[in-house]
Formats: sequence, structure tokens, C-alpha cells
Amino acid sequence: MAYNIALIPGDGIGKEVVPEAVRVMDFLSKQYGFELAYTEFPYSCEYYLKTGAMVPEDGIDQLGNFDAIFLGAVGDLRVPDHVSLWGLLLPIRRQMQQYANIRPIRLLPGITSPLADRTAEDINFIVVRENNEGEYSEIGGRLYSGTDAEMVVQETVFTRKGVDRILRYAFELAQSRPRKHLTSATKSNGIIHTMPYWDERFNALSKEYPDVVTAQFHIDILTAHFVQHPDWFDVVVGSNLFGDILSDLGPAIAGSIGIAASANLNPSKEFPSMFEPVHGSAPDIAGRGIANPIGTLWSAQMMLDFLGEQKAAQSLMTAIETVTGMKRLTADLGGDATTKQFTDTVIEQLATGEVYRN
Ligand code: ATP
Repeated sequence: MAYNIALIPGDGIGKEVVPEAVRVMDFLSKQYGFELAYTEFPYSCEYYLKTGAMVPEDGIDQLGNFDAIFLGAVGDLRVPDHVSLWGLLLPIRRQMQQYANIRPIRLLPGITSPLADRTAEDINFIVVRENNEGEYSEIGGRLYSGTDAEMVVQETVFTRKGVDRILRYAFELAQSRPRKHLTSATKSNGIIHTMPYWDERFNALSKEYPDVVTAQFHIDILTAHFVQHPDWFDVVVGSNLFGDILSDLGPAIAGSIGIAASANLNPSKEFPSMFEPVHGSAPDIAGRGIANPIGTLWSAQMMLDFLGEQKAAQSLMTAIETVTGMKRLTADLGGDATTKQFTDTVIEQLATGEVYRN
């Protein structure tokens, strides 16, 4: 099989970790006999500073012609975050109907959780975040700017289609996992229209998935449970905002934001899905060659899996876990490996082949 991949390295450490993932994917493509053709796009804050736009007018449309989009990180201290987010990431997620944002949280071998005495068995769950609507909406505005009467309104949008499709995705994902457990994040005591609606749809759909055991928590206590009882969770589904918060907290308990991977999926495959590490451009460490590439390599692993190259994907995950198990870690995890050294060791593991190829 041959796949056309749109590469958007972006800014900061995005430009350091994406080439490392490409090295690994190229190695795997030779080993497993598939082809990857990359087309690189310069879309980034740097591009915005030069041109005044994050992407050219037809930029997002062009991305629609690829089998998948692989992105590093976008962000620059000179560009407000809302400009970069609304100029690139959110339009891609929406136009490509990437409504399911999947963020796996696992304590990998050799990595110590900041939570005392927690092992790999305790931290192994997936956050499913609604990615197209909810709290991240353009609806709203400002009145009487700069006066005492100044007021701001921001609307949250939950549609039946949008809520049902993300809940169904989460129920089906839970069904595919050994524990078959699904937790819903809510806040129906304080947010009186949208969140009771979310709960209503969750309860209605749960009847169609009787084999899935369910739990519901308000977002405030849920964050506490992530810290105190991470072992309770298997699949956790939340709205755009709640999912966003939980998927930063999750990697924090699993060691570092640098290991966090994500997939923005269009499950029907009508449009390309996008794969990207959860972390940002990390301007504080950019240019030093010390960024942790795990989040990006794991995102590449998710992309290969979604494209249908399951053996290569499985092999890559095993190699990453072998290397973390060897404690060949980058500085954010207490080690001294550089970005390149970590990747080299992953490729060495892949090259041994025998464990991963069957
Ligand atoms: P942005 O505005 O692009 O989101 P940010 O600095 O606000 O950037 P992150 O890039 O996610 O947010 O960084 C948060 C912290 O985590 C920083 O101190 C950064 O150095 C660290 N960090 C993020 N990603 C990595 C990584 N891959 N390896 C090592 N440290 C990382």
C-alpha cells in the first residue's frame, strides 16, 4: 500500500520531533513493505509572521487530498494563541470533520509517575474528546467595548448529531477493550442546559451498549479522581473543553506532557484524519535537541494503525516501550538522552526485528 501524508512540522520543537518520526516511519515502511510519500507544508506561526495568515486561502482544502495529516506543534510567543489555534488547528479539525480526539494515557515501562506507588497497571486509559463543537464556538460577541457597560457573551453549542456521534465512538471503543468501562465527564449541576443534555444522551445511548459499564462524574471531582484513583478509568469521554483539560492532566500523571499522543479522527474516513503530539512548541527548550519525541512517535504509531498498518504500529509501540524500559529517557523524564539518541535507539530496536515482525 502507498499513503500520501501531509506533513506540517509547525514551530519550535515541532520542527525537531517531526523529522524524527519521519525517520522511524521510513524505517518501518521498508521493514513492512508499504510506501509513504510526504508533502511538507510550512503552515506555522512563522508563516503567519511572514504572510499575515496561518495558511493560504485554499490551504485547508489542499490538505483534503491526503490520506492523513501529521502535525508537530504550532505556537510562538509573538503570535497570540487564539490566532494560531483558530487559524490552523481548529479549521482543520472542523473542515475535515475530525470529531473524535483520541488521547491515550499510559504509564510506560521505565517511567515514574509523579503519583506515589503507581504502576503501569494503574494508569492505562484513553480520553475521548469531542473535537468539533461544544465550548469551542465562535458564537458570541462583545458589546459596549471599553465602557462600564462592557459585556461579553460566549455560546456553547451541543448538537444531537455531534453529541451522539462522539458518545457512540466512546461506547464502541470501550466495548473493544477488555474492561469495557466508560466514564462520562459532566457538570450538569452548574451548567444547566448543555450538560444535562449531554447526560441525557449518555444515558439513552448506554441502553444500546448493555455490556459497557458506565460511570458519570462532575468534571471537578473527576480531576481529583484522576490523581487519586487513576486505576478506575478505562475510556473517559468529555466535551471539547473537559476533554482538553483531562488530556493534559492525564499525561502529567503518566510522567510528562512530552509523551502524550493524539489522533483527530474522522472515523468514517470521508476526510483525512490528523495525528499530532499533545504538547505545544515549547519555546523554552526549542533548538536544543532535547525535546522528548515519544508523543510524536506515538502519534505516528496511531497514524499507521489507523491507515491499516497494524503490524508496523504494534512494532513501533513495542520498540518505544522497550527503549523507555531501558531508561533511555530525555531530560523531561529525568534522563540525558537527546531527541536524536532516543529515536536512534527506537530504530535499533526495530532493526532487531524478530520480536515485532510476526
Ligand atoms: P505552546 O504555546 O506552543 O502551546 P507552551 O510552552 O505553552 O507552548 P508546551 O509546548 O506544551 O506549551 O510546553 C509546556 C511545558 O512542557 C514547557 O516547559 C515545555 O518545555 C515542556 N514540554 C512540552 N513538550 C515537551 C517535550 N516534547 N519534551 C520535553 N518537554 C516538553
